[in-house]
Amino acid sequence: MATCIVRGACPHDCPDTCAMHTTVEDGRATRVAGDPDHPITVGFLCGKVPNYLDLFLNSTFANQRRQRSAQPRPELVIHPDDAAPRGIEDGARVRVLNDRGEFRCIARVSDDARAGVAVAPMGWWNHDYEGGRSSQATTSQELTVAGNAPIFNDNRVEVEPVRG
Ligand code: SF4
Repeated sequence: MATCIVRGACPHDCPDTCAMHTTVEDGRATRVAGDPDHPITVGFLCGKVPNYLDLFLNSTFANQRRQRSAQPRPELVIHPDDAAPRGIEDGARVRVLNDRGEFRCIARVSDDARAGVAVAPMGWWNHDYEGGRSSQATTSQELTVAGNAPIFNDNRVEVEPVRG
């Protein structure tokens, strides 16, 4: 696999102009991160930028061949410090659960997720998940007090490897 780092700057119209590294593997961008060697921004990227490579804005994108080929299956991004004590390896099947329910997908062990926070990117259909349940199986069905919006973004869960 041919891998290189392309150096650049955040494309947002923002005076900070954070220096950025884009990892390219076999011609495909696979990771965006701050440039730790830049003397001013020293590796910082704000929360708007690190998920630039997520190609699904909603589940209709999972029907598009181009996006689907880049993100073929649901995954859970989990930090190495959280994965190791649970015996979870990169590419392993995992079960994500709480008292509301569970879903299963593939682990991507990476420091793209902060330690203590697992990230289940959105966009796949329920039938794309083993067992037919997505991360919404673990979320509250309550509505927010202000505006009656869904409560579905942050969620306390446990993660364990699927054996067998
Ligand atoms: S990463 Fe965030 S803070 Fe930095 S230039 Fe881009 S938008 Fe501005």
